[in-house]
Amino acid sequence: MGTAIRLDGKLTAAAVRAEVAERVRERTTDGRSVPGLAAVLIGENPASKVYVRNKRKACEEVGIQSWLIELPSETTQRELLDQIEELNSRPDVHGILVQLPLPHQIDEAAIIGAIDPTVDVDAFHPENLGRLMAGHPRFYPCTPYGCMELLRRNHIETTGREVVIVGRSNIVGKPLALMLMQKRTTANAAGGNATVTVAHTSTPDLAAVCRGAEILIAAVGSPRLITPDMVKPGAVVLDVGINSIEGKLVGDVHEDVANVASAISPVPGGIGPMTIAMLLQNTVRAAEMLDG
Ligand code: NAD
Repeated sequence: MGTAIRLDGKLTAAAVRAEVAERVRERTTDGRSVPGLAAVLIGENPASKVYVRNKRKACEEVGIQSWLIELPSETTQRELLDQIEELNSRPDVHGILVQLPLPHQIDEAAIIGAIDPTVDVDAFHPENLGRLMAGHPRFYPCTPYGCMELLRRNHIETTGREVVIVGRSNIVGKPLALMLMQKRTTANAAGGNATVTVAHTSTPDLAAVCRGAEILIAAVGSPRLITPDMVKPGAVVLDVGINSIEGKLVGDVHEDVANVASAISPVPGGIGPMTIAMLLQNTVRAAEMLDG
């Protein structure tokens, strides 16, 4: 890597996990419930299997119970809805995650909408997105939250900064833009107070927009799209992208950007581990909220 400081997601995520483990220990010693996460995996997508396995392993490490519900790729929407209904009614399940993408016969929005919003630890449910939008979130979506925490815990201030996000998906770009632009308040501690621009496939001069960023975040899914000429010298760069090229994981940011940026998150070992750590944090939060 070049001259840029490495924003080590593995290290930062380990700190988050240690805090989560402590919260789990405290509540269980007090006789309160052990937080529990149910993961639903449909079909044979190898990447999804790896993600779910990593999430469950992380749960185990911090003392969160987890269950894996594996369903065949031909599962119908009705069957999946019934499964979610059953999980919604279980008192030992504080978090439900349905690993995306879903097979074509299943309507993603219908499934996300069926998860009880109080256990929707991915924060994809419209009610949770609405609350986020309105500035009084129940949960922050895990990947955007991971980006915010990686910055905060590495003392990178977002207040008043020009931030450019490349990508406008519902799970990364859009909620991250909301979090970054929002006022930081007690109820919305992760509010970024930043000036935010969101670039996407219809942005005519992506390089020029990116060069305006003091903090540049790539969430595209296009290997090495962001090249050094697109980065303002000294900018902070977060690379959310995960792309597999000949069996090697690469981000959306070209390796040479490390010679221009002041700090950069690596792939792997950047936003990925942070996303999982924030899922654990949301699950404990869900259990704490159910305690009243
Ligand atoms: P997506 O495909 O839903 O969205 C990609 C976005 O990028 C779209 O909004 C599109 O407009 C924009 N885009 C595509 N090509 C572009 C281009 N050439 N110029 C400008 N904008 C362009 O993807 P997503 O779900 O948001 O994921 C983005 C990337 O982040 C993927 O590589 C995904 O694997 C990765 N990801 C990582 C984590 C993690 O934990 N690290 C979590 C979620 C997603």
